[in-house]
Amino acid sequence: MTTAMKRQEAVRAVGETQPRGGRVSYTDAHVREVFAEHLFSESVQRQRLPKDVFRKLQKTIKSGEELDPTIADSVALAMRDWAIEHGATHFTHWFQPMTGSTAEKHDSFVTPTGDGDILAQFSGKDLVRGEPDASSFPSGGLRATFEARGYTAWDPSSPAFILDNPNGATLVIPTMFLSWTGEALDKKTPLLRSMDALSKQAIRLLRLFGNSSAKRVFTTIGCEQEYFLIDRHFFLNRPDLVNCGRTLFGAKPPKGQELEDNYFGAIPERVLAFMAEVEYELLRLGVPIKTRHNEVAPAQYELAPTFETANLATDHQLLTMEMMRKVAGRHGFTCLLHEKPFAGVNGSGKHNNWSMSTDEGENLLEPGDTPHANAQFLVVCAAVCRAVHKYAGLLRLTAASAGNDHRLGANEAPPAIISVFLGEQLTDVFTQLETGKANSSKKADSIKVGVNMLPKLPRDAGDRNRTSPFAFTGNKFEFRAVGSNMNPSASNTVLNTIVAESLDFICTRLESAVKGKTNLNAAVQALLPKLIAEFKPVLFDGDNYSADWHAEAEKRGLPNYKNTVEVVPLATAKESIELFKKYGVYSKVELHSRQEILLENYARTVNIEAETASMMAHTMILPAALKYQTTVAEAINAAKAVGIETPEEKELLKEVTDAAGAFRKAILALDKAVGAAPHGKALPAAKYQCDTVIPAMAELRRWGDRLETLVDDEIWPLPTYREMLFIR
Ligand code: ADP
Ligand code: MG
Repeated sequence: MTTAMKRQEAVRAVGETQPRGGRVSYTDAHVREVFAEHLFSESVQRQRLPKDVFRKLQKTIKSGEELDPTIADSVALAMRDWAIEHGATHFTHWFQPMTGSTAEKHDSFVTPTGDGDILAQFSGKDLVRGEPDASSFPSGGLRATFEARGYTAWDPSSPAFILDNPNGATLVIPTMFLSWTGEALDKKTPLLRSMDALSKQAIRLLRLFGNSSAKRVFTTIGCEQEYFLIDRHFFLNRPDLVNCGRTLFGAKPPKGQELEDNYFGAIPERVLAFMAEVEYELLRLGVPIKTRHNEVAPAQYELAPTFETANLATDHQLLTMEMMRKVAGRHGFTCLLHEKPFAGVNGSGKHNNWSMSTDEGENLLEPGDTPHANAQFLVVCAAVCRAVHKYAGLLRLTAASAGNDHRLGANEAPPAIISVFLGEQLTDVFTQLETGKANSSKKADSIKVGVNMLPKLPRDAGDRNRTSPFAFTGNKFEFRAVGSNMNPSASNTVLNTIVAESLDFICTRLESAVKGKTNLNAAVQALLPKLIAEFKPVLFDGDNYSADWHAEAEKRGLPNYKNTVEVVPLATAKESIELFKKYGVYSKVELHSRQEILLENYARTVNIEAETASMMAHTMILPAALKYQTTVAEAINAAKAVGIETPEEKELLKEVTDAAGAFRKAILALDKAVGAAPHGKALPAAKYQCDTVIPAMAELRRWGDRLETLVDDEIWPLPTYREMLFIR
């Protein structure tokens, strides 16, 4: 079959595909029974663990205290029996290497006893520590400097779970991944450290405000996940999607997203069947998915969970992505999590909703019902704004990747300039506090902290600014720059750390004022205007896409890092090293390793894309163009043979040969650029890919897409945007 025929065959096959049902039924088992049935949850722990072991384990989980090592054997035993009852034969330490995805190595419970019998073995030691062969995971030079081996360490705050496969099940134990000298080789460890740092500072603030009972403050996360779903038949015929996760060619279809008829539109049945199955599988693992809907681009959708503690939410986020990919296959779809699978329509993000909550359930970003509570809320809110202003670059850095560069810095939500949206009312409150004057005609007096009530802050979607990278949405902040394909850990690690630093700064001042016998309200009233004056430039409620804003932001001195290569060096800037060291989140070598990995990853990603583009150009697109060129030339000759001149066809032939010629030139230029790429130091290597290879790829694509609009559709070898985005 020719490639062009395969394309037509794909369309036919898609047309015959029916929605897949039969796997999910909440009438057979009530949703209450389904929820967390594959989770070693608190209630399973309560049932199965000796009382004192359960109590000690919960204490570790809830207050962040170190685990009592003597309980490990007892927990392991209960976990093993529970897992085997659920059909598990293997266990795995599941971790988050610095590449961004997850890693696992399975070990069998089964141990032969030597006399022909077997034993199901799983000890406290197996639970607490593992030694995966870590040498192939990127360490950014960490292991070279320290030790060759890494080990995984049980994270009791994220409960173990069971993952089914078509022929069995595995007990999955969330773990950290560390070098023998204690350096974090993963993304979870720094997140946990940052949660500790934030908790410490937030508790200080709560004590100032008279809260003596809260023991810990958790950061809470809810990630809205955007994704594309296309039929697998199309996917398999696109080497660029298979190898790079995004299309490297593809002419703009006649219909894109301009009618805006997709957002919140009726969900196609085949897609809904997929969503329901993803939700079912996640429910069983105790991951509560709350919303699902169509997104702005055709074939784009979104799902969002109920928020949870940052660590758990992150594990669940990664699990969600894994489950989406897996279930998509069962439905004949491919789930594209890349930030920009298709040019010309919206890309995908992961809106990271973030807040802080005490162990008693108080959300620190919830405006209060009393002036006292409002004072605390205003201080917390100001602390976040101060942090985002002061460390905008670091936040931007956490959203940097080759894939996400196509969203940030391009003409799409959100921009690379980090600003904060507070909404009209809250901005008004802050302005009044700063100037000491009421500036809204409705109110007679300016706000007195701890005395006046705040105006009611709206929480409905209509009032929101969807173009802002960092928006206050009623009782949480939403960081929208995170890429759809990313592990959200880095963003939350940085967010926690910079807010901890802000709270530390604020508490130090308030504590000393209170010690000097200033009353707290007066101290807050005196401090807030200074803070506001400092972070005011970061506040922006307008349209973040507009060119005006870019000019204005520059005037305000806000950084605008347009791509990964520009922002990465910040990771190891002196201030960054000091900040993360002070709060015990990343050591200097850990920051260096992360910078190294980010750059390597960037250069490799672009290189793979360039080589894939070249291969497709040489072997698929150019041959189709030449075939068509021949057809046109033959037609002209045939007409001429019977005495008819065809000037229009000659014009067409010229267009085709010109485009094919320019295309071939662009391939050679790209090949040359790829061949001349420097190796060695990570920054220059990445910079070269950014400055030289990406433009060469763009030029190649320009001519490739031109050819797509000229060449006979019958022989065009690649599924088109029109097909991939609209046929399901
Ligand atoms: P949107 O209109 O932006 O979709 P939602 O209210 O549906 O907003 O919430 C989006 C996400 O924010 C959900 O995942 C939700 O669980 C999460 N979220 C809500 N409250 C909090 C909070 N206090 N902390 C963290 N995430 C939260
Ligand atoms: Mg949202």
